[in-house]
Formats: sequence, C-alpha cells, structure tokens
Amino acid sequence: MNRKRILSGMQPSGKLHLGNYFGDLKNWVSLQDEFDCYFFIADWHALSSLYEDPHRIKEFSFEVAVDWLSAGLDPEKSTMFVQSEIPEHAELHLILSMMVPVPWLERNPTYKEKKDEIKNVDMSSYGFLGYPVLQTADIVLYKADYVPVGIDQAPHLELSREIVRRFNKLYKKKVFIEPGAKISDIPKLSGIDGRKMSKTYNNAIFLSDGEKEVGKKVKSMLTDPARARREDPGDPDVCNLYPFHKIYSPKAMQDEIASDCKTAKIGCGDCKKMLSETMLEGMKPMMEKRQDILTRPDEVKEILRAGTLKAHALAKSTLEQAKQAMKLK
Ligand code: SF4
Repeated sequence: MNRKRILSGMQPSGKLHLGNYFGDLKNWVSLQDEFDCYFFIADWHALSSLYEDPHRIKEFSFEVAVDWLSAGLDPEKSTMFVQSEIPEHAELHLILSMMVPVPWLERNPTYKEKKDEIKNVDMSSYGFLGYPVLQTADIVLYKADYVPVGIDQAPHLELSREIVRRFNKLYKKKVFIEPGAKISDIPKLSGIDGRKMSKTYNNAIFLSDGEKEVGKKVKSMLTDPARARREDPGDPDVCNLYPFHKIYSPKAMQDEIASDCKTAKIGCGDCKKMLSETMLEGMKPMMEKRQDILTRPDEVKEILRAGTLKAHALAKSTLEQAKQAMKLK
C-alpha cells in the first residue's frame, strides 16, 4: 500500500512532559497506522539552546526515545532516527541556506516568540535564526507529504513551502515536495503555574515523573485565582487545573466538578485530590511501560540504529537528486 509520508521531530532538550505528549506525541501514535511515519530526534536543533552544555543532548536523546516508546510509538510501524547521525541534514541545510533571503527568516513569527520565551540562554545566534532552513531540510529530505501541526502552527510551514518553491524554480526540477500540514486538535494545557508548560519554566509534569511527584505537582497547581477562600465560587473555564480533568476524568466527574465549583460545594483541595487519582490512573500504563523499557536499554539504541539506517538511505537519495538538479554532480 502506498501510504502518504509524515515527518516530525522533537528536540532532546530535556525530558518530555504532558504538554509534549498531548501536543505531539499522542497524535503521532495515532498516525502510525495510516501513514508512513518518520520521527526524528532533533539533536542539532537542540544545540541552538544547549550550545553551552552539549554533553547533555546525548542523555536527553535516550530519554526522549524511551518516552516515545513508552507512549506507544512502535518501531514496526514508525521509523525513528537521530538527526545528527544523518549528515545529509547538515549538507542540505547548507545548500538551502545559500538561497534563502535573510528577511524571510527575520519575519518568522516563531523566531521572535521563542527568542522572547527562552530567557536563560542567549538565542541571538546565526544558527537559531536559520533554524527554519534546517527544519526544511529535515522535512524535504524525506519527501514528506505532511507535517503534523496544531491549527495555530499551520502558518509555520509556509516558510518551508516557500523554500521548496524557490529551489524547484531555480533548478527547474521538482526535486522537493511542498509539505502539507496535518492539522490536529491539540488541547490547551498549561503548566502548574498557569504559564505555558515548559521545562524552562520549571512548571511541567514529566512523562517520567513517579506517582509521588505527580501528586505533589497537582497539589501545587494554580487554580481559579478568584477562589481566594473555600466559600468563594469558582469558574472551571478560567481554572488552570480543569483542562486536566477534561483529559483524565470521566465525563460525569467533569460535569459534577464544574457544577460544584461554581457553587463552592467543593474546594480546590478536593478537586486536586480527584485529579491526582484520575491522572495517575491515566498515566499508569505509560509509567509501567517505561519501567519495562528501561530494563532493556540496548533495545532502545538498536531501534534508533535501525531507524537511522533506513532513513539515511532515503536522505542520501534525495540529496543526490538535489545536487544533480543543481548540476553539482
Ligand atoms: S474547584 Fe476545581 S475547577 Fe474549581 S477552581 Fe478549584 S481546582 Fe479549579
């Protein structure tokens, strides 16, 4: 069966958290049966924020692979690989960077957004400005038909499509495919302090957290700020915690909480207790799978090695075609 190809990657800049799971990973798992999926550990991208501490990338890469497998990515269905093991990413990045005008990169809204978000590292590097070019190389090397994105990220792909059009027009050959967006509905989840869930903000619930840590984090979650006292009525729609109930708790419990919160029948402490229980129940299969996978670390490395071998052959062939179109070969 000729399945359409999906490509996506994740930076190994730390352990994965629930924001990563519900934002990307869960969706990737569901795409495996329908698409020819390629998922890569974007370790060169991680260098843009970890350049002062690069030795941690290797350790994080392993952690990310363990998280992927625990969450349900299946090496029988998906090709999982490591970006830096395939030098064609760097070579195509260099070639593309020669033809991408700098203003295209400067006007990229995520560049500014991310630069403002990461405060503890100087992100004004040449490499970080050019990350969409590397990202384009990552995608087009595998002739991916789609990249999975949330609805608000769809415009981010436009730059990649523009680069593809420029290349194909310059060298009069349709070497690369313009990647389409595979849009999915991503639930809005914040970190325990109400800001975007991020390892940088130290507000994340990690997939690798144990029961105690999860319970502790739920307990410290920000709720509706209007509920200063137990008898103050609350509003689940502005509460930072309620979206987690929407994911983990049964519908009847969600409805009861919403109504009891509005009438102050329950306090936030009760609500957190209920969430701790349903969340732990929901996370349990992944926690158990993780423990099992960790007993066989060599298997994880072998999965990545085999995936990298397969992906490398494809990347090599695409780069050859690009060089031939450019008459460099
Ligand atoms: S009772 Fe629950 S939903 Fe209502 S404000 Fe407190 S934590 Fe949020």
